[in-house]
Amino acid sequence: MLATPDFERILRDADLYVTRPRLAVLAAVHEQPHADTESIFGAVRVELPAVSRQAVYDVLNALTAAQLVRRIEPAGSAARYEARVGDNHHHVVCRNCGAIADVDCAVGDVPCLTAADDHGFVIDEAEVVYWGRCPDCRATLEQQRPN
Ligand SMILES: [Zn+2]
Ligand SMILES: [Zn+2]
Repeated sequence: MLATPDFERILRDADLYVTRPRLAVLAAVHEQPHADTESIFGAVRVELPAVSRQAVYDVLNALTAAQLVRRIEPAGSAARYEARVGDNHHHVVCRNCGAIADVDCAVGDVPCLTAADDHGFVIDEAEVVYWGRCPDCRATLEQQRPN
């Protein structure tokens, strides 16, 4: 298992002041990949009961701007946050329950950034979302199917 990341250091390395809300939000995003704002707020409240929802939003925006966390917004879903940044990985989303899992780039090392025709743009992100049904939802549907 990986040791707990040094969140103070991560903040300092990104030129962000170390504050308790920032530490708590960063820890929550590391602990619950693809959590939505409400879940992160809930986790932070456990540690810092006085923190406001707005403060958590502000911290998430600051951490996203500093590229310490990545915001993903599957169609029809609330924004989710994750600490796995910088590798342009993709996501598979369950149409039924909204479960999200990471999917590495389809063919090796960020090739999805090499567009067939870039139209002169400098491309730094390719967003691919795979949609389907997660194993739990498939199992439930199988059970409901009449024989
Ligand atoms: Zn599901
Ligand atoms: Zn992810």
